[in-house]
Amino acid sequence: MKRNVSLSEISDGRLYGENDMVRADCHGCEGCFRCCVGMGNSVILDPYDVYRLQCGTGKTLPELLAEEKVELNVVDGMILPNLKMAGKEERCGFLNAAGRCDIYGSRPGICRLFPLGRYYENGDFRYFLQTGECRERNRSKVKVSKWLAIPDRDRYHEFVRRWHYYLNDLEKKVAGREDSEAAKELNLFLLQCFYLTPYDTEQNFYEQFERRFAAV
Ligand code: SF4
Ligand code: SF4
Repeated sequence: MKRNVSLSEISDGRLYGENDMVRADCHGCEGCFRCCVGMGNSVILDPYDVYRLQCGTGKTLPELLAEEKVELNVVDGMILPNLKMAGKEERCGFLNAAGRCDIYGSRPGICRLFPLGRYYENGDFRYFLQTGECRERNRSKVKVSKWLAIPDRDRYHEFVRRWHYYLNDLEKKVAGREDSEAAKELNLFLLQCFYLTPYDTEQNFYEQFERRFAAV
């Protein structure tokens, strides 16, 4: 989800690359699960998240939708899946009774990032540190790539970059005609191609993504 706010209002004013040190390490959150409740529909999933979720839970996106762990919403004219916050407390469906994440190793990219965010400009992106969001005040410095803990970080970066600008282009195409048949067809095609068709978890994600991307 895009936010049109000034970087100086919400960050320390710096942009970080994967090799930079950033004061983001909140020591395993230690009893805090603020980022796992009341997040609305902001934890949007990309195709890599869906692949990782399938690896971690053994469940495809249609199965996670049926279990109401995930839901679909319209964001900037595009139908995209996000983690569903449920109940009075608006808890993520993967948050267990002890307040820990049941899918920690395969949690989505947005969960991994926090309290970092991504800042896109000039066809690429860097990271920024959100200063008003994390409750932990004694955070330590950590290398951005270590904080994300995602294998094959260069390929991941390239995937995130391409996916963002691809969606951006599609959003521009449907802007102002979100209710048209063409926009609906485009959305259904995107959903089916990148999200609802199960991934082969025995195979590398990126090759599967490339094949699907080539098909569109
Ligand atoms: S997936 Fe895990 S880390 Fe992400 S919001 Fe849910 S419980 Fe929290
Ligand atoms: S507010 Fe900070 S410490 Fe609390 S769950 Fe989020 S990242 Fe962890």
